[in-house]
Amino acid sequence: METQKKRIRKKAQVEEESCVACGCCVKVCPMDAIHVVLGTMAKVDDNKCIGCGKCAKECPASIIIIREAAL
Ligand code: SF4
Ligand code: SF4
Repeated sequence: METQKKRIRKKAQVEEESCVACGCCVKVCPMDAIHVVLGTMAKVDDNKCIGCGKCAKECPASIIIIREAAL
């Protein structure tokens, strides 16, 4: 029987409207995957993010969630 492989990849997601652009998440990201853009909000580069959750732990506003995306 063929086994169906379903890969789940985790990605960080920022609630952008609540971001205070403190940059705490940027400093802890091991993949250089999150940046504060236009000095106003953090954005995640899905191609680089490995879903480690470090940014979510660090965010003082608790507005980063780690979502699961099936590929
Ligand atoms: S989950 Fe990890 S890799 Fe992804 S943006 Fe946050 S710190 Fe970076
Ligand atoms: S740590 Fe949180 S509030 Fe600060 S820039 Fe990152 S997402 Fe925005």
